[in-house]
Amino acid sequence: MSDKLVLMAIFAHPDDEAFGTGGMLAKYAHEGVEVHLVTATLGESGQLANPDLALTEPLHILREQELRCACAQYGITNLHLLGYMDGQTAVVRPSAAVYKLVKLMRQYRPQVIVTFGPEGIYGHFDHLVVHRWASAAFMVAADPERWPEAGEPHQVAKLYYRGLAQSQVDKMRETFGRDFVWMDGVPFPFMGYPDEQVTTKVDVREHVEAKLRGISCHASQLDPNLPYLHEDFDPLADAGFWEETFILAEQHLLMPLNFPETDLFAGLR
Ligand SMILES: [Zn+2]
Repeated sequence: MSDKLVLMAIFAHPDDEAFGTGGMLAKYAHEGVEVHLVTATLGESGQLANPDLALTEPLHILREQELRCACAQYGITNLHLLGYMDGQTAVVRPSAAVYKLVKLMRQYRPQVIVTFGPEGIYGHFDHLVVHRWASAAFMVAADPERWPEAGEPHQVAKLYYRGLAQSQVDKMRETFGRDFVWMDGVPFPFMGYPDEQVTTKVDVREHVEAKLRGISCHASQLDPNLPYLHEDFDPLADAGFWEETFILAEQHLLMPLNFPETDLFAGLR
């Protein structure tokens, strides 16, 4: 068994970590796990979701500040910015991006990686691209033949997708009256996994305050009508908020795992 537990979350935009993994990140950071957040872009193409906010600095600077604010709420000190342009990841040379991720994986040697699944939550193009980069890096990082100058090979034990269960998407439609995101004037529906495919449910009830504070940090992206921002929102009453769901996509463990898991490090401690 490993003595130091390390988790690396790999997402596309500042705020991608907040809604679906903010509680999990806070929980593991609080437990003493070394938590790394890798964010591929600075979200500079995002719209100001709150019309009452006046933009006093360039959006990429503001969004980096918001992301650093959120990390402080989760208790994360390891933030890695890949520096790509929001909305432009599809034209980045994949080998360059995968190389950066392989270097990070080999340097910090996480047992657990969390990233987007192939559906990208709602199919955002940057999410789909980051899914492919992270999946490729997961394989390459372990291959001693590949890029030996990028560090000692490292086999990540578990690769997870952050994914919504279909029942959560249904609940979202009932509660918020909407189950899609507008992008470029086109609706992108949230895509849920069949509930039985969700392998892992992490209870973050003890960390909902940190999660809410992390969400609040992303002020430029928050629609003022978002229920989470309302005074009467009870984070403990909404399982979609306090239970974060994941799909174990790959694993390299010798012992059998029991599903559904409640811990991303199940089998590792
Ligand atoms: Zn995103």
